[in-house]
Amino acid sequence: MVLLFTAGVTLLKIVEAKVIVCSPGRNFVTLKIITDQGIYGLGDATLNGREKAVVSYLEDYLCPALIGRDPQRIEDIWQFFYRGAYWRGGPVGMTALAAIDVALWDIKAKQAELPLYQLLGGRSRDGIMAYTHATGQDIDSTLDELARAVEQGYKAVRVQCGIPGIASTYGVPKNGKSYEPADADLPHECSWSTEKYLNYIPQLFEAARKQFGDELHLLHDVHHRLTPIEAARLGKEVEPFHLFWLEDCATAENQQSWKLIREHTTTPLAVGEVFNSIHCCRELIQNQLIDYIRSTITHAGGITHMRRIADLAALYHVRTGFHGATDLSPITMGAALHFDYWVPNFGIQEHMPHSEQMEQVFSHHYHFEGGYFTPGEAPGHGVDIDEKLAAKFPYKRACLPVNRLEDGTLWNW
Ligand SMILES: [Mg+2]
Repeated sequence: MVLLFTAGVTLLKIVEAKVIVCSPGRNFVTLKIITDQGIYGLGDATLNGREKAVVSYLEDYLCPALIGRDPQRIEDIWQFFYRGAYWRGGPVGMTALAAIDVALWDIKAKQAELPLYQLLGGRSRDGIMAYTHATGQDIDSTLDELARAVEQGYKAVRVQCGIPGIASTYGVPKNGKSYEPADADLPHECSWSTEKYLNYIPQLFEAARKQFGDELHLLHDVHHRLTPIEAARLGKEVEPFHLFWLEDCATAENQQSWKLIREHTTTPLAVGEVFNSIHCCRELIQNQLIDYIRSTITHAGGITHMRRIADLAALYHVRTGFHGATDLSPITMGAALHFDYWVPNFGIQEHMPHSEQMEQVFSHHYHFEGGYFTPGEAPGHGVDIDEKLAAKFPYKRACLPVNRLEDGTLWNW
């Protein structure tokens, strides 16, 4: 028997779900879900370097199954595409599901004429602390960039610099351009030396603390380059410089392997921008092997699933630290900021500014001032897309690099 209690509720029906691919400086995949009442929602489905795989998954399998459904049943639609799928999870599947989920939350908030954070439970703070990036070819040019970030008002900055003897290093731009690693039609090959990196990087933080004092929050991303015992050494050696966090210091498929890192250092640990489900971090969280979970809305199943991860994390003193590189479109930034405004165990939000061209395609209501963001008061997540303008920037394949050790052995990029 089916009982429907619908008095006073305007019923909506999904009549169209379309995927918009554009490249205003880099590739973005956007899902637009349109209802019979004219209200629409937008979700970001961008998976850096694998964009078309998500496009196909959405267009060929998920979008047709959305038509006719009630967009107000966010949880049921999430379960339909997750539990209902025999082949569940994975980065492609969870990015597609996240785009659907965020678009549905956008619709629900627009229908309620409320900013999204109000539906989550209202704001828990006055502003959302964000960190940006300071990078340079050497320590001096990195410190110049750090000074520029401080001038712009940031209270927290991720610091990366080139390593003498290594031709190119993760996070360090070439030719003074803004950093965009997915820059080639086929993956180009970089080289890596753990020894050179480990011998050099503590000097960067020693110099940064000397010039900027103790108050500025400093962060660093290792990009999965070290083994657990090497990561333990780095964590220990940078302890005197009090990092806010050391990010992705090792891979984490073997979650228990992080016990080794944890036992050797008090430097706070962050991981998880490549995770796509609660099962990728459950042991890390429950064993208190990390301090910050980096998974974000767009790659971890949307607001519906990210809320479960954040709630589990809260039980173990783990705080959020959402990924926020430019390969996540302004739609993810908007949705993430509403989540950050609410989530009780918020830590920090990454912010890598989008170009002017990207912001012309994706207009938004979020605002940065004095080191803190606010998500804005527009109904929904507050980010829209100019489809006509987006059509002027067609997709161009762009792959992330791969990495080899100096002897030619393939390594983690
Ligand atoms: Mg990272």
